[in-house]
Amino acid sequence: MEKVDFLAFGAHPDDIECGIGGTIAKLTRLGYKVGLVDLTLGEMATNGTIEQRQDEAYKAMEILGASFRINLEIPDRGINLTPENIEKVVEILRKAQPKVIAAPYWVDRHPDHERAGSLVKEGFFSAGLNKVLPEIKPIKRPEKYLRYFLTISATPSFVVDVTEYYSIKKRAVLAHVSQFAHRPEFSQTFLNEGQFLGRIESRDLFFGAQIGKRYGEGFVLQELLELEHPLVLIK
Ligand SMILES: [Zn+2]
Repeated sequence: MEKVDFLAFGAHPDDIECGIGGTIAKLTRLGYKVGLVDLTLGEMATNGTIEQRQDEAYKAMEILGASFRINLEIPDRGINLTPENIEKVVEILRKAQPKVIAAPYWVDRHPDHERAGSLVKEGFFSAGLNKVLPEIKPIKRPEKYLRYFLTISATPSFVVDVTEYYSIKKRAVLAHVSQFAHRPEFSQTFLNEGQFLGRIESRDLFFGAQIGKRYGEGFVLQELLELEHPLVLIK
């Protein structure tokens, strides 16, 4: 597996782009390597077969410019904190060796999103333990674990300006045709009734407004941020 600078996790194959598609597009355009990990195939969704959803996920990955997208194939609605699932996260963290990782925030309308963040937290911690999968090296944790928002937002630790990359984020989200397109062959859902992209955009406009930019994506850092001194805050 290719090593990456940043590794993003989602519960379902469209979570990452809905949450932080703009940041990923920005990182890849700045030359950083980014990997995407979906915990489940999203097989419990009302619309879309597993094959369709995988095809859409790979199209979105290409739009975002990520280096790879893998699926851990944990059952949808079954993201449990079992040793087996934790080891799947440990394995990917040790192989891709990201410096920074991101997963969904700990409060969300969808319990799978909350559990995804918890499972990644378990994997993040266990990745640094010698007695967990000792044969997979190097035994170390990423340096930082960030949370991103899906349906429920809170005060972020920081906001990334994604204005320049917002059209790429929209294209990546809309690549998930089976989830967001309003077509006769799909059952009408909360996701495809026409307001969903607007909800994402309103959140990103709200965070953007608070940093004096058009679009922003908020992140929560799990621990306090250490600074050398206050003047390093100046660009
Ligand atoms: Zn989801």
